[in-house]
Amino acid sequence: MRNPAPRKSLGQHFLHQRTVIDRIINAFNPKLHETVVEIGPGTGALTFRLAPRVSLLHVVELDQRLVSLLQEQAARHPQLMVHHADALQFDFCALTTGPDERIRIIGNLPYNVSTPLIFWLLAHSHCMEDLCVMLQKEVAQRVRASPGTKEYGRLSVMVQQQCAAHRIMTVAPGAFFPPPKVDSEVLMLRPYRSTPYPVSNHHMFSKIVRTAFQQRRKTLKNALRELMSEAQVRAAGIDPGLRPEQLSVADYARLTTAAD
Ligand code: SAM
Repeated sequence: MRNPAPRKSLGQHFLHQRTVIDRIINAFNPKLHETVVEIGPGTGALTFRLAPRVSLLHVVELDQRLVSLLQEQAARHPQLMVHHADALQFDFCALTTGPDERIRIIGNLPYNVSTPLIFWLLAHSHCMEDLCVMLQKEVAQRVRASPGTKEYGRLSVMVQQQCAAHRIMTVAPGAFFPPPKVDSEVLMLRPYRSTPYPVSNHHMFSKIVRTAFQQRRKTLKNALRELMSEAQVRAAGIDPGLRPEQLSVADYARLTTAAD
C-alpha cells in the first residue's frame, strides 16, 4: 500500500529526515524489556526504528488508513500492537502488565490536539516512566518556561508540578512532509515518583492555576478573589500584589494548601 495523502485535520506531518529520527530514538534509548507506547505512529518513521529494539511496542493511531498500513507491516514486526483509537480517550495505564510496571511514551504529537493530549497524559502519568514528545516549538517553550517569562502559564505550572521537563532538540520544518509552518521541539518529560511540589487537593490546585492565568494581567488578589481571600494569599507567604506569572510552581502549591 502506498502512503496515503497527509490530512491537515489530523496534524499529519510525517518525519522523513533520517538524522532527526536517529537523534530522537537515541535520546529515547529504548531497552529490550521495556513496554513502549507510541502516539500517532503515522507511516511508521519512528515505529519501525523502535520495534526491533523493544519486546512490546503499542501504537495508537486515529487514522484508519494508517492503521491498515501499519497492520500490513505487523507480520514482520511481532512486537508491534496496533490500536485504532483516539489517544485523547485511550486508557494508557491499561497497557501495563502489573501494578509496578511503568510504560514509556514516545510521539511526534499531532499539533492540533497537543495541549489537551498533554493534559490527558498528565492525568495518567502515574503509570508512565517518561514521555518523549515532539511539540510545536512554541508549545514546548510554554511547557518548560520559567516564572517571569511571557511563555510561563497554566501549561508550565501544571506540567512542572508533575514532571521534570528537558529539551532534547529543535527540529526545523524541512524534517517533515509536508513541512509545518513552525519549528518543533522534542521534550523529555519525567513524571516525579514524589513531586517536590505536593498539593493537598489537586482539583483545587488546578482551579487556582487556571483562574490565575485566565487573568494574568491582574494582581493575584484580584485574579483569585472568587477562590481565596487576601489573608489566605498572605498566609501562603505570597505578596497578593504580585501577578500570576511571577509565582513559582512551589508558590502555587502553597496557595492551594492555604485555600483548601
Ligand atoms: N509519528 C509519525 C511521524 O513522526 O512521521 C506521524 C506524526 S504526525 C505529526 C501525528 C500523527 O498522529 C498522525 O499519524 C495522525 O494521524 C495521528 N493522530 C492525530 N490525532 C490523533 C489522535 N487523537 N489519536 C491518535 N493519533 C492521532
